[in-house]
Amino acid sequence: MADGDWIEWDKKYVWHPFTQVKTELPPIPIVSAKGMDLVTNEGNVIKDMNASWWVNIFGHCHPNIVKAIQQQIQQMDQVIFAGITHRPAAELSKLLIEFTGFRYDKVFFSDNGSTSIEVALKMAMQFYHNQGTERKKVMALEGAYHGDTFGAMSVGERDYFNRPFERHFFEVEYLPLPSEENFKEVYKKAEKLLHSGEVYAFIFEPLVQGSSGMRMYSEKHLDELIHLCQKNEVLTIADEVMTGFGRTGKRLAIDHLKQVPDIICLSKGITGGSLPLGITLTGQRLYNIFLHDEKAKGFLHGHSYTGNAVIAAAAVATIKTWHEENIDQKLVEIENLYQSAIERLEKLDFIENIRLNGTILAFEYKTDGDSDYFHPKRDSLYRYFISQGLLIRPLGNTIFLMPPYCVTQDEIDKAITAVENIPTDY
Ligand SMILES: *Cc1c(COP(=O)(O)O)cnc(C)c1O
Repeated sequence: MADGDWIEWDKKYVWHPFTQVKTELPPIPIVSAKGMDLVTNEGNVIKDMNASWWVNIFGHCHPNIVKAIQQQIQQMDQVIFAGITHRPAAELSKLLIEFTGFRYDKVFFSDNGSTSIEVALKMAMQFYHNQGTERKKVMALEGAYHGDTFGAMSVGERDYFNRPFERHFFEVEYLPLPSEENFKEVYKKAEKLLHSGEVYAFIFEPLVQGSSGMRMYSEKHLDELIHLCQKNEVLTIADEVMTGFGRTGKRLAIDHLKQVPDIICLSKGITGGSLPLGITLTGQRLYNIFLHDEKAKGFLHGHSYTGNAVIAAAAVATIKTWHEENIDQKLVEIENLYQSAIERLEKLDFIENIRLNGTILAFEYKTDGDSDYFHPKRDSLYRYFISQGLLIRPLGNTIFLMPPYCVTQDEIDKAITAVENIPTDY
């Protein structure tokens, strides 16, 4: 069979994610990936400045992770994780507790970012239910994105992404994203909500809201909101699915905070971008509320593939590689790599709102209207960057770089040169 046939099979049979198939160009056939490079069927190289939807932290096919997966799959594949345990899951849990600075005590496994959020929300709801109190509302931030399952959509921004489903969502109260200008009002609104006694949890993307356009806010404001929740006995949930594993310049975004959220959710970087995994971490205090002679008071949640040994082995290799390659230090170096990029961007009159947090550099392509995910510029910018050999997926007119940590100065320069040369008729 001819080598090209599989591209026809894709066209004929595959329904791709997050895509309006009618207006999008056909997907780019990729045949191999190594480090920063995605190689097309025609042998062209595309630099993965997007870290393949923000998951790939060390570059593609890191040998440590490849080896860990190979060794584990030969020894033991999937085994049921209820009533059974195994070394990769136990070792990963120990490493995660260390990685998060011993601020958490228990590790719950699921399969992706959205499910790690579902788990967190269900834990928070049942925490009160088990104690005989019912609270019905969640507090969240405007512009939030927490995933595509129903609980995760419920606590996200209500917009065109989830409009068809909106009437099925549960009750959520939104705070504006904190800023110097609005913080007094935001705090007052939070106080009022929390005093009502109806709120059981506050969920947020710490320091950077990803999908709504790399919107950044200060750790000081977040600390104050978390503290306010603690005073009112409302559980706090940090959605670190994107920010975790170095994106904000530290291992976790909460490493920038003084307060410790009750629950954190991890996913994207956790296996180095090799395999899907969701993790929800919490402390002994919450865990204890689920220990009971009554079976129904346990946390009765799990997925068929929960605790998969091969995936856990990939995550163990990821954390070990983190330490071996001193990624903590590498993150500082990446921030430095961006300095000359920022200087060059500042000279461009069609770029505004340049901002940096750790390894995320974001800015807007100036337009007449507001920034918008469905901005008409988005598709042309995306196609232009691809034509320049760069995988940069703008969120509307927001352009951002979020590369794997093996990125070089040359590769960042290449991306900035492409931005400088965006044709004006695009
Ligand atoms: C990607 C993302 C999710 C959802 O993760 P999936 O693995 O895509 O389900 C949740 N929260 C944040 C902040 C994310 O960036």
